[in-house]
Parts: sequence; structure tokens; C-alpha cells
Amino acid sequence: MESSAGTDSRSRWSTEGLSVLKIPFPKKKVSRAVAMQELAILEGAYPNAVTALHYSNAFELLVAVVLSAQNTDARVNLTTPVLFKKYPTPQKLARARPEDVEQIIRSCGFFRTKTRSIINASKQLMELHGGNVPRTREELEALPGVGRKSANVIMSVVFEQAAFAVDTHVFRVAHRLGLTLGKNPREVESDVTKVVPKEKWRHAHHWLILHGRSICKAPIPHCGECPVNAICPTPPIVRRFRTLKTKAGPAGRGVRAAATRRPAR
Ligand code: SF4
Repeated sequence: MESSAGTDSRSRWSTEGLSVLKIPFPKKKVSRAVAMQELAILEGAYPNAVTALHYSNAFELLVAVVLSAQNTDARVNLTTPVLFKKYPTPQKLARARPEDVEQIIRSCGFFRTKTRSIINASKQLMELHGGNVPRTREELEALPGVGRKSANVIMSVVFEQAAFAVDTHVFRVAHRLGLTLGKNPREVESDVTKVVPKEKWRHAHHWLILHGRSICKAPIPHCGECPVNAICPTPPIVRRFRTLKTKAGPAGRGVRAAATRRPAR
């Protein structure tokens, strides 16, 4: 389902020698015109971007999103077929024995907490929503295990509502592009949605995620192969720290501390 745009075998010209460094984010936002240009380029690069999570209905997406916290979508996709086969509906999952669910989702991390969340969320779906996943932010965020980011994903992906979810990739890429100086996901969401037309909010989330997974990676971006390279404010920062690293020698002594500090705002 995911529109894959990159692999680990790409050129690493911009990453050589930077493995010990954490590249600081730009200290200033780009202009609105540049921000819109950056986003237009990413839209062109990832025209068919969709979620990488596998699901066939709103209930399955809800469960997959809860399981994806602090975990990769690929790991979740390996787990959910077994889970959904045994518990295909909220009715079934609401009656599940926690130890049985824990056994299935053990590889997803925080499996005891996630087990409680998806069982209790299923009970809430049965008790308050007739077994259906609700559509409003308030109702979604009231479900166990569902915060603002998860609610945004469910609203935008399965109900096609205007919502922009900020995960770790979106947070990082939005900062590197100079779209935001936000200190938390809510501030990043606010900044990015000001420069993206509302009808594209739900797509913009996927542009940034896919770009973060394929090119603008953590901890080091592959700027040399990036279509936004010419207008993004981060490549000069990468080059500056590459130079510092070279001067500091192979161990990067003297650079590491400075490079890992968050830039002053
Ligand atoms: S130029 Fe570099 S930092 Fe900017 S978006 Fe591209 S990969 Fe990320």
C-alpha cells in the first residue's frame, strides 16, 4: 500500500562521516512562498501516498494505529492478520482474554498496555457507539489508546476528513524543511496546516512521512538525492557539521556535544 520511494542502497554522499552527529533543525522558518514550493515538490514526488498500515475497515485501522505506537508499520502488519482473524469485530475483541491478545501482539512493544487499550476501546465501541468507530475527534480521543495523532490518522485515512497527523517523521521533516519551529506535535500541526490547503491536509501527512522514511531520514538526511534540496534550509547545516566533523577527526571529539544540542529558539 505504501508508495515506496527509496532504499538503503542510495548514495550516501551527504551522510559520510556524520554518524555520530545529530543535525540541528533550522532556527528560522522559511517564507510562506518557499514552504508552498517545498510542499508542491513533495506532492509531486509522492502523488499516491497512502498509509502503510494494512486494514480493511475502520475497526481494523483503529486497532492497527494503537499497535503502531512506538513501533513500525511493518511490524504491525505482521501482527494484525493473526489478531484480526481471531478477533474480527469489536464484539469479539471486547470479550477476549487479555493473556490471549498479549500473546499475539507481544512483538509490537508495550504489549500489556496495548492489549488493555484495544480490548477497552472495543468495549467502548460496543457500549457507546453501537460497535462502530466514531467519526468525531472528541469521540475518537475518548477511546483508550487513542490520542490526537491517532485520531487524526483515523479521521483522515478512513473517513477522509481534513486532518493532519504529526508522527516522528512528520515532526522531523517539517522542522528540516523550515515549515515550523514547533516544540511539540500540536504546534507543528498548527504551522503546517497554515500553509497547506485544507483539502490536502490528509495527503500532506503522507508526503512528509514517506519522505522521512525514504530520504529525509533520521538521524542523517540524504540531501544529495532530495528533490527539495535547492530550497530546503537544512543542507547547509548538514554541510557545516560535516566540515566540523572532518576537522574534529574520526571520533568527532569536540563536535559531538555541540551538535547534539537543540538549537536556541
Ligand atoms: S534537503 Fe535534506 S533535510 Fe531538506 S527535505 Fe531534503 S533530505 Fe530533508
